[in-house]
Amino acid sequence: DKEDRHTELRAPRSRPHSRSRNSSVNGRLSASDFDFGRVLGEGSYSTVIQARNLNTGNEYAIKVLDKGHLKRKDKTETALAEKNTLVRLGSGHPGIVRLHSTFQDEWSLFFVLDLARNGELQSRISRMGSLSLTCSRYYSAQLVDALDYMHQKGVIHRDLKPENLLLDDKFRIKITDFGTGKILGPGADRAKTFVGTAQYVAPELLENSETSKSSDLWATGCILFQMIAGKFAFQGLSEYLTWEKIKRLDYSFPEGFDEEAKDLVQKLLVRDPTQRLGAGELGSSNDMKALRSHPFFSTVNWATLWTDPAPPLQ
Ligand code: ATP
Repeated sequence: DKEDRHTELRAPRSRPHSRSRNSSVNGRLSASDFDFGRVLGEGSYSTVIQARNLNTGNEYAIKVLDKGHLKRKDKTETALAEKNTLVRLGSGHPGIVRLHSTFQDEWSLFFVLDLARNGELQSRISRMGSLSLTCSRYYSAQLVDALDYMHQKGVIHRDLKPENLLLDDKFRIKITDFGTGKILGPGADRAKTFVGTAQYVAPELLENSETSKSSDLWATGCILFQMIAGKFAFQGLSEYLTWEKIKRLDYSFPEGFDEEAKDLVQKLLVRDPTQRLGAGELGSSNDMKALRSHPFFSTVNWATLWTDPAPPLQ
């Protein structure tokens, strides 16, 4: 019976609330407080479903993680790490998916998240081939601004890529997927363990399994390149060959690539993590000042970046 419930919950068009009628205990939310709608996407250990809070009418994306599956794959710690990272980031930045609440029943963990109605930036890039310079500037500026906040909170993302940049109803980004995020302890500025997606992995990770906030800057360079060029900066025929290219800094700009953007990418895709633009003052309150002042961002109004309307996506 339990297995059946798992299957039902993971299947599209499932209605967890209709079979998980645990009423709220101590005022805590439960699945019965929500009307579950369409499945927004599936992860390796989770299903994300659009849901409306029946009491407030507010809409969310609820990430449902199957406890049995997490246990079998030894991923319970990862799920808890994701929750802890999201709690640490709180509601402090509009560019980061906010965790509103969590609850569980016998079978599942539920994370109630900001709903990003317009899906992944990756599918927009794929659909359009590449993004206009205006859009590339806008989305990379939002990424830098959100990263600045995240890094000040002591969090490294470690898996930044356009799949993890979601778009909300106003076409502003919301960074998601903190399953591989890392909270740095006091005094620590680097973390061991290998994580990441081949095309965006920084060379220090491949060479000595170390990541720091600066590894997120490398990924930012890869993302900016990809938005403008419409292809990965580093892509080999296999993961191994991709990594070899990264280690050799073997990439080239297509003809016509904007000169200022090129200069910025070249200052981010630097092998020595301490030499990347914005890395100099990591950890200080001046974090990323050098990055924000780069000529590519000269037309960006950082103060109104999250209130100005997004440029048309093209
Ligand atoms: P994996 O666990 O394999 O790394 P993932 O991180 O993409 O995959 P989830 O976080 O479960 O897994 O997300 C699954 C899909 O649901 C995502 O690809 C995304 O398209 C969609 N999704 C996730 N969070 C939201 C959200 N807050 N709003 C809208 N859609 C979302």
